[in-house]
Amino acid sequence: MLSFLMRHHDIWHYSWYQTRVFADYFWELMSEGELSKLTEIYQWARSEQIPLLVIGGGSNLLFATDRFDWVIIKNSLSGWKYDSEQKILYTSSNEPIWTIASQLEQEYDQTLWHRFIGLPGSIGWAIYGNAGCFGLETESNFVSATIYDMLSGEQKIFSKDDMQFWYRHSFLKENPHLFLISAIFDLSKKREKYHSDVDNIDFRENRQPKGNSCGSFFKNPSRELSAGHLIEAVGLKWYRHGGAYWSPLHANFLMSDGESCPPSDLIELVRLTQVRVKKEKWIDLINEVRIIG
Ligand SMILES: Cc1cc2nc3c(=O)[nH]c(=O)nc-3n(C[C@H](O)[C@H](O)[C@H](O)COP(=O)(O)OP(=O)(O)OC[C@H]3O[C@@H](n4cnc5c(N)ncnc54)[C@H](O)[C@@H]3O)c2cc1C
Repeated sequence: MLSFLMRHHDIWHYSWYQTRVFADYFWELMSEGELSKLTEIYQWARSEQIPLLVIGGGSNLLFATDRFDWVIIKNSLSGWKYDSEQKILYTSSNEPIWTIASQLEQEYDQTLWHRFIGLPGSIGWAIYGNAGCFGLETESNFVSATIYDMLSGEQKIFSKDDMQFWYRHSFLKENPHLFLISAIFDLSKKREKYHSDVDNIDFRENRQPKGNSCGSFFKNPSRELSAGHLIEAVGLKWYRHGGAYWSPLHANFLMSDGESCPPSDLIELVRLTQVRVKKEKWIDLINEVRIIG
């Protein structure tokens, strides 16, 4: 066992469902000077056949049980700067994308990332999952990322082509040994996927459910057919299973009662919804939120 790993660590506050969860092994990465420890952990976990998970803000994770014999690495790399002449943003991976977007507006009058105001999560995940809001995707202004390969201990620069972005996807998703340290974005030009007139601040404030949730749970099967619409059509909007329920405000928001909700209630509600939508609509709902365990 590596002496710097913490044992039986309470990680409930890292999942936005706020269910009670413990990890057998836990470590927090505080600075780039400690990156080599990631390789030590990765190799040890492999030799012991213990799964490893990197977490940022925890707003895209559903822990499926209340105890994990996993190694959880909490990323806490922070710091960002903006070159207002060249309009280039340099940021560490655990900076919240929402905070950067609003500070760019307040301090530099840079409004290109306005649609990211209200989007939870870190830059690391935004790139990992190519997060997007109303036509603006993370890939839109992405230039490059510095990646740490936990397997070899090497640092590499990944270009936009290397990242293989598509809808809610990047190359990092198939390569869990790659850890994103930092990234560069070019904010000199608007590059939207499509135009939208939605007022994102009003949307986040008034139309998005509040409570213990990781946002939209399933991917939309297509732009024309939303997962929320399907959940409502099979009569499950507002449906409750123990401490888990689909929001009355937005049917694709899986909500939890927090500490009093066992993870199994969330998992069971997801499963029964997938079964019912498949049976009645012949559509497979695929989760956007990552289920761990
Ligand atoms: C209320 C709400 C509204 C939302 N609305 C939207 C929306 O409009 N559009 C949208 O696209 N998403 C939306 N989301 C999803 C949200 O963007 C993600 O949940 C969030 O970005 C996840 O970031 P995180 O830092 O919390 O990631 P975590 O949940 O901590 O991690 C998620 C995954 O990213 C990987 N990861 C994280 N950091 C790194 C890193 N540095 N290197 C390698 N891998 C890493 C982890 O391994 C993990 O698998 C919403 C979520 C909520 C709660």
